[in-house]
Amino acid sequence: MTQLRELLAVEAGSFRLDKVDPRGTPGLPDSKAVRKDPKAWAREAVSSIGTELAAYQEKLFASAKSERTDRRVLLLLQAMDCGGKDGTVRSVFAGLNPTGVEAVSFGPPTDEEKQHDFLWRIERALPAVGHVGVFNRSQYEDVLVVRVHGLVPEDVWSQRYEQINAFETAQAEAGLTLVKVMLHISPEEQRQRLLDRLDDPTKFWKYNPGDVDERARWDDYQEAYQAALTRCSTEANPWFVVPADRKWYRNWAVATLLRDAMAAVDPGYPPADFDVEAERQRVRALSQGI
Ligand code: AMP
Ligand code: MG
Repeated sequence: MTQLRELLAVEAGSFRLDKVDPRGTPGLPDSKAVRKDPKAWAREAVSSIGTELAAYQEKLFASAKSERTDRRVLLLLQAMDCGGKDGTVRSVFAGLNPTGVEAVSFGPPTDEEKQHDFLWRIERALPAVGHVGVFNRSQYEDVLVVRVHGLVPEDVWSQRYEQINAFETAQAEAGLTLVKVMLHISPEEQRQRLLDRLDDPTKFWKYNPGDVDERARWDDYQEAYQAALTRCSTEANPWFVVPADRKWYRNWAVATLLRDAMAAVDPGYPPADFDVEAERQRVRALSQGI
C-alpha cells in the first residue's frame, strides 16, 4: 500500500493547493469496516494509533534521559480559521503522556517578540530533546498573515521562505523531526463552522469577529499558502496537506503521519546501565518491612 505520507506530501515543483479536494479522503484503507461506518472506524483507528504513539513517546523520552538520543519530534499545524487545529491536537495527543508533550500556540508577536527576528520565538519554543511538541500556528504565519496584510514590506517577507528553509534544515541536523501539516478546509465548511459557533453558547469563546474579515481575503490566503507550501517543502522537511472538511479523516491522517514519523526515529528502549541480576539479588535480600 502506498504510504499516506507519499499521497499527502507537497511536491515542490508541481503541487497545486486548488487541486486538493478538502472533502477528499486519500489513503483510506478499502475495507468493509471503513465502508460501513467510516467515522466509527476512524475513531477506533485513532485510538489504536494513540497507543502506538504513547509507546514511541515513552522510548524517546527514556532515551533522552540516558542521553542516547538528540531526537525531538514536532508536529506543526497550520490552517485557515476554523480549520481544526485545536480539535486535531485534542484527538491525536489524547493518549500521550503530558510530561513529554509541549504544546505551543502562536498569536500576534508580543512587544518583546517584536524586538527580535521572526524565528526567535520559534526557536525558543522547540521541544526539548526526547519530547514531542505541537505548534498551533508557527513561523509560517510570517509568510501568511504577514504577507496577506503587508505587515512588513515585500522585500522582507519574500526572503523569509529561504530563511525558514535554512532554519528547518539546521534543526533537522540537530535532531528535530518536523511534521508540517496544513489542514485544508473549504470556504463552505468554514462558513458552517462559524455558524455552529454562533449557535452554541459553549463555543462563543472560539468565535472571533475578526475571522469574518479574514475570510474576505480567502483567495489571498490561498495564494500565500500555495507559495509557502511549494517554496518550503524540502527533502528533509516536506509539507503535507491534509483534506480537513471531514474531521474523522483529518484526525486519522494526522495521527498516521505523526505515527510514521515517530516510527522512523524510534530509538528503542535504553539498555540498563546497571547489572540487572546483581540488582535483583540486592532487592530480594531486602527485608519485607523497614
Ligand atoms: P488564534 O489561533 O485563533 O488564537 O489566533 C491567533 C491569531 O494570531 C491569528 O489571527 C494569527 O493570524 C495571528 N498571528 C499569529 N502569528 C502572527 C504573526 N507572526 N504576525 C501577525 N499575526 C500573527
Ligand atoms: Mg481563531
